[in-house]
Order: sequence, then structure tokens, then C-alpha cells
Amino acid sequence: KRIISTDLEVEEESIENHLRPRCLKDYIGQTKAKENLKIFIEAAKSRGESLDHTLFYGPPGLGKTTLAGIIANEMGVNIKITSGPAIEKQGEMAAVLNSLSEGDILFIDEIHRLNRQVEELLYPAMEDFAIDIMIGKGPSARSIRLNIPKFTLIGATTRAGLLTAPLRDRFGLISRLEFYTEEDLQIIVERSARVLGVRIDSRGAMEIARRSRGTPRLANRLLKRVRDFAQVKYDGDITREVADDALNLLEVDKEGLDLNDRTILLTLIEKFGGGPAGLDTLAAAIGEDTGTLEEVYEPYLIKKGLIMRTPRGRVVTESAYLHLGLSKIK
Ligand code: ADP
Repeated sequence: KRIISTDLEVEEESIENHLRPRCLKDYIGQTKAKENLKIFIEAAKSRGESLDHTLFYGPPGLGKTTLAGIIANEMGVNIKITSGPAIEKQGEMAAVLNSLSEGDILFIDEIHRLNRQVEELLYPAMEDFAIDIMIGKGPSARSIRLNIPKFTLIGATTRAGLLTAPLRDRFGLISRLEFYTEEDLQIIVERSARVLGVRIDSRGAMEIARRSRGTPRLANRLLKRVRDFAQVKYDGDITREVADDALNLLEVDKEGLDLNDRTILLTLIEKFGGGPAGLDTLAAAIGEDTGTLEEVYEPYLIKKGLIMRTPRGRVVTESAYLHLGLSKIK
């Protein structure tokens, strides 16, 4: 649970919410996920039913929460948002489920982090729209079944494989979100700039897009940083030169890698002779949590062809040496 939040975080979050597209037509890219959803939404609407339970998976910042909000909007229903780690007890989950109205959407971010008991309460809730509650203690304890409103669960996780099979099987639609193309990110940057009232030319938007690791959240963040830079050091407009200058200062390189990414590659090269190194070993060497390494950093490095997963561990590729300007010593 978030106990402490700083103003800075609140500011970042409110801008993030502000930049969220509200309808499917403003949601750029992710053609496959969007096509499937369109059909699903149409079908549910024409039957006058609620949408099937839906799972979105993919690296952070690709638009899972945004899609959940869009679905609620397109279906004309309310959405309640929570996350796996925020619900610790069965009673808390029962209360959340009970507070829903017919047709509502319950969005659970990081759904793979629900604990076992809480997760088990979801099975009958998803399948039969009922929850089983234990009454009493000891030998006289018995369970009673309560009906809850027909709702739609939308879950988000970084990898579908992190979910237990019984939970995964209860989703009617499982949709994978992909890294965005540079062209799609350019459109997103241009749209965000319009919303924020920033002037940017297409080459400036492309420069930010190219260096955003295929991720809209990062594209929006970099846009804000570049905007500040443009206001202080230039006349406020963002051109390619301004973007390049600002991003170099932020140590985001031409491929969008930041310091952490380069540390991962360099550690593999310098400490492990290029690999293979096991995930846990590598995580310990860079002082990062294994999960974060695997879910947050690695997918993009793999997508860029800079590292490979092999049965014996992680290995850097020729491109990684090239990218870092190193020659491969054998
Ligand atoms: P996730 O839930 O996958 O971590 P979010 O839905 O919170 O990601 O998206 C992060 C930010 O990226 C949001 O502020 C949103 O404005 C932006 N965003 C994500 N996907 C898109 C998209 N397809 N088009 C435009 N903006 C997007």
C-alpha cells in the first residue's frame, strides 16, 4: 500500500492521467489488441451483457491501465481501480467486490501479486458471481455463499506466465501488449504535446519517440523533461536539436538506453565475459531486484537484440559491443 506519497509523484501521476486517451480511436498502435477488443465490446453491447473478464500483459507503461479506462468508457460503465499488493486480506477483497454495481469494471493492476487466499476468493467471483465466506470458528465453522453483481474483471500483469493457471483460465480474453513502433510513439508525443500546449515539430517528436524504449509512459516523461529544457535553454519550441541536446544531458542514448541499461550490458561484458550469467547472479551484480531486471529492463534489451536469453543464462550479443563502442575480446 502506498503510505507515503510526495508531491512530485502526485504531479507526475496527474499529468499521466491527463494524457490518457479516453476512447479507442485516440489509443494509438496495439492494432491486434484493439481489433480484438472492438469485436468483444461490440458483441457484449449488442447482447446487453457485460464484457468477459480480460487480462492484459506486457512491460510497464505500454497502456494497460489506459485500455481498462477506455473499455469502461466505451461500455458506459464505472471502473474501480486497485492493485494486487493493495489487497492483503480476503475481507478487503470481499468488500471491494461487494461495492461493485451490475456491469462495473474492477481493474486489478499487478494481479500476479495477489496473495493466495485473496486470489482464491476471486475464482467463484469470476465464474459464478458469488463469494464464499466462512462464518464462525472451529468445528462449527461453515461457509455461506453470497451473490455479487455481475462485473467484469480486468487484470494487468507484466507477464501472463506469472499468473497461476486457475486464475489465468478464468479470463475470457487474454491480450498481449507490444512495444510501440517509433511512428506510433511519434504520434503519441505529438498528441501529448498538443494536450500540454507545447510546440514541437515532427523531427523533434521523432527524436523523442526513437529514444523512448517503445514505451508511451517514457515518451510522455521525456517530452516533459525536454519541454523544461526547451523553456530554459531555448525559446520553448522543441526541434530535433533541442530534443537531442536535452536527451543527451539526461543520458538517454540514441537507442533509448539509459544508465541502468548500459550498466546491465557493461556488467555482463566486464564481469561475466559477455555471459552466460544467470538472472539472479546478474541482478545481484548490478544491485537490482531480479523481478525488476526481468520484467522492466530485460524485455527491451532483448527486443533490441542486445542480449539473449539462453538456457544457461543471459548473453550479450555482437550488437551490444557495437552499441557501447567496444571491441569483442575473446
Ligand atoms: P500500464 O498500465 O501498461 O503501465 P498506462 O496505461 O498507465 O500503462 O500508460 C502510461 C501512459 O502512457 C499513460 O499516461 C498514457 O497517457 C500513455 N499511453 C499508453 N498507451 C497509449 C496509447 N496507445 N496511446 C496514447 N497514449 C498512451
